[in-house]
Amino acid sequence: MSLANINHFLDKIAPLAGLNKKELAILETPEHIWEAQLEVAGKTYPAFRIQWNSARGPYKGGIRFHPDVSKDEVSSLAFWMAIKTAVADLPLGGGKGGVIVNPKELSPQELEELSRAYIRAFYPYLGSHQDIPAPDVYTTPQIMAWMLDEFEKITKKKDPGMITGKPLDKGGSLVRDIATALGGVCVLEASLQKLKLSGRRVAIQGFGNAGMNVAKLLHERGFKIIAVSDSKGGVYSEEGLDIPAVEKIKEKTDSVINYHNQKEDHAITNEELLESDVDILIPAALDNAITKENASKIKAKIILELANGPTTPEADIILHKKKILVLPDVLANSGGVTVSCFEWQQNLAGQKWTEEDIKKKLQQKLVSAFESIWKLYSTTQEDFRTSTYVLAVKKIIQAEKKRGKV
Ligand code: GLU
Repeated sequence: MSLANINHFLDKIAPLAGLNKKELAILETPEHIWEAQLEVAGKTYPAFRIQWNSARGPYKGGIRFHPDVSKDEVSSLAFWMAIKTAVADLPLGGGKGGVIVNPKELSPQELEELSRAYIRAFYPYLGSHQDIPAPDVYTTPQIMAWMLDEFEKITKKKDPGMITGKPLDKGGSLVRDIATALGGVCVLEASLQKLKLSGRRVAIQGFGNAGMNVAKLLHERGFKIIAVSDSKGGVYSEEGLDIPAVEKIKEKTDSVINYHNQKEDHAITNEELLESDVDILIPAALDNAITKENASKIKAKIILELANGPTTPEADIILHKKKILVLPDVLANSGGVTVSCFEWQQNLAGQKWTEEDIKKKLQQKLVSAFESIWKLYSTTQEDFRTSTYVLAVKKIIQAEKKRGKV
């Protein structure tokens, strides 16, 4: 969603959430926009850190390294993080960072230098009680470790809670690596119970971290994964794919398309995957995958948005008419930032929580978020995304009132 789309969407939400003009303006305006030019090996890379809203706690959100990064995109994502942390009821606000760069064209040394340069540019605005970055597209635990090291060198203080998604031995948390997928599974299972849906056929678009892990977790729980895909195309099995075998093929050949297990298994396109005969559809790759062109052909009863922004606003209207339940990105993929929050809390308290503990807390957080949205959703004619946003913006405005801004 671009910023213009966000403003448009907020205008729709405003009357439903009972927002006045001033409150709406607060939600539409970032608190700080920081920009810098990072220099690495004679080249300059534009970089941003956008701090959208901190009414509920320190800013929180990832940093992406991607050639398509823009100020507009980082701004929308920062706004989104404010919504996500409110949805999952974390004591955090929303922010986001980005650098316009293709990290695949950098040497490992240049990548490290760029990560450190990012911190040198923005360190005055970061910290465990100020703004806490994390990984996002093309940024990794190793990059988080370099960033932490640079921050601690400059400030001459240990502060592992200033960044999350770190490697385990640098203060990272267990479960962070599968958190987005696991959170999605918790939300999906809660919704299946509500809809009393017994079908367990699933199609997953995207086989990166979120897509692959959600395939694994659902496969272990007895769901039938009928189709998966990556950027090269997809595979289909009426009997259900052998997910550990798909994972191996993906690792070995860099694509799921080389999987072939049973005689009837066959290749499908990404477009066909979206329209396949399944109960649950999981877009876990691109934004704008579900559009007004294909929405009417979707057969799934539930869509779990693990990707950010996979459904266009026009498609949303069609899906709602078809009574397809769309579990929106800001809820469905909020497991990542939720376990980031747990990592931050462990760092602040000097603790290490067990895997079991973290999984239990994640489940509680997301099921309770789902339940409160469901309660509102079942009393309105609006779609589930709208109810999710109404609740989130109300929470942010409540906090704004308490700090005296409205
Ligand atoms: N980048 C992830 C997201 O968009 C995680 C953010 C975080 O862990 O702070 O939710």
